[in-house]
Amino acid sequence: MYSLRRFASKHSKAYEVVYKFVEPPILASLTWLNKVAGDRFDKPITWMEKHTKGALFDCQMCGNCVLSKTGMTCPMNCPKTIRNGPCGGVRANGNCEVKPEMKCVWVEAWGGASKMRNPQEIELVQFAVDRSHQGSSAWIRLAKERDKEKQDRKQAAIAEDVS
Ligand code: SF4
Repeated sequence: MYSLRRFASKHSKAYEVVYKFVEPPILASLTWLNKVAGDRFDKPITWMEKHTKGALFDCQMCGNCVLSKTGMTCPMNCPKTIRNGPCGGVRANGNCEVKPEMKCVWVEAWGGASKMRNPQEIELVQFAVDRSHQGSSAWIRLAKERDKEKQDRKQAAIAEDVS
């Protein structure tokens, strides 16, 4: 897992391209599923997310995914679970102060972000992780959020046409 997640940070550009390609059909399918079946498929989808992202990124299922903003590096693998890093304890060799044998997650994240299309996205301050989402699917949450934004835009356009 450790070597695979380091691979993802090192090849963040390729992962970003794949992500941009697969994201729309995944979110569209989840939105459709949610409309026709409600939350009946939430468990298998969450299982799939856990195992797919677990294998690729060592995902800890925080439910608030920021991978695309942190150089395809999961910040929840930082022993301090810092969402905006690094902390002040990075060793001179770039390793973690808590786990000296491990490369600092945030050193990897900044390295990964520098190869991506919008490297400055890592500078956006992330909110503290909402622990009530732990174990839930970030995919499902994102699909619902995007759908709501779409519906809100539609409603606003209709209201504008009427007035
Ligand atoms: S959902 Fe949370 S724990 Fe999983 S990869 Fe994304 S940021 Fe990391």
